[in-house]
Amino acid sequence: MIISNRIRRVFEHENWILGDEVRELETRVANYTRRNCAVACGSGADALYLALDAMGICAGKTVATTPFTFGATAAAILRTGARLVFVDIGQDLQIDAVQVATLPMLRKLDAAVTVDLFGSFPDYKTISECGIKVIEDAAQAFGAEYDGRKAGSLGHAGCFSFHPSKPLGGIGDAGMVVTDDFDAAARMRARCNHGQVLKYSYVEDGLNSRMDSLQASAILDKLDNYDAELHHRRTLARLYRDNIDGVRHPIQSGCVRNPSFSIYPVIFDSPELRERAKAALSHAGLWCRVYYPSPLHLEAAFAALGHKRGDFPRAERACETILALPMDEKASQLDQLDRLFNVLGEVLGK
Ligand SMILES: *Cc1c(COP(=O)(O)O)cnc(C)c1O
Repeated sequence: MIISNRIRRVFEHENWILGDEVRELETRVANYTRRNCAVACGSGADALYLALDAMGICAGKTVATTPFTFGATAAAILRTGARLVFVDIGQDLQIDAVQVATLPMLRKLDAAVTVDLFGSFPDYKTISECGIKVIEDAAQAFGAEYDGRKAGSLGHAGCFSFHPSKPLGGIGDAGMVVTDDFDAAARMRARCNHGQVLKYSYVEDGLNSRMDSLQASAILDKLDNYDAELHHRRTLARLYRDNIDGVRHPIQSGCVRNPSFSIYPVIFDSPELRERAKAALSHAGLWCRVYYPSPLHLEAAFAALGHKRGDFPRAERACETILALPMDEKASQLDQLDRLFNVLGEVLGK
């Protein structure tokens, strides 16, 4: 961690919360994603909640999302009081757009939270044609592109997380919503700051979900070099795809999608093979992780929906057969790549 001059200046001006750095980050992210408005907030989870709320999602509405995501995606929907509907994923691990598109025809859907999973995208062409509000969970996808458009600009609102584990990670919790809807942006800006439009002038009940100036400074520093970060991830992804046979590579760049590869997952033919690969990589001291070990419909937090094993078979299968490979700086060193290919080759019999 480098303490830059930008970070040092915060200790001098002592404007700790919503300082100039926060406004600068909002402007930079709005320009980067080519959206009219950006509203900084306390986390990716809050970004999702604020966006849903500002788009009029409340009790009585129905909102779809995928069970194969981080818990915050679905929890944000429950927080609004709306009804949550899970839709299974496709081969590409993304929410099945065709299934989403059939729900509004049955008058059963008002909005969807689409997740740009692992920095790639569901089929936004199909989803955006079905006339519902689309809240894009772009927490993992900063810098990724779909049909020439940046992640965050594919729905009515796009939500980012700057949690340290994300490719554009800060030094703590922070998030942001981008949108072209000025009214929604004004509503979010007030709500995340205790419902205030001016100091001590409250337009509605609010929450405290503001961004710290130190966070904004750290994220701005990272944003200055973000092209290099994306280049590193995309290069490594190509190496993995071209050198690891016998597994499926569900996240790939193509003519429509240019992913950010926040995670690089591979899918094994069987749960047993995945377990063997995981053990062999860990034994060799190589990082690997299961994203995600359990689909949300089987988690206690969502038990009220009454789902059981077998309801979303593709999400369940993905949890059993997926493994994420290292994406850090070290991962592209030749000796480490060599070891990783050898260990996996042995497990896969290649
Ligand atoms: C990380 C993440 C979130 C939550 O972000 P926080 O900043 O941790 O609140 C939401 N959705 C997805 C898909 C994520 O990966």
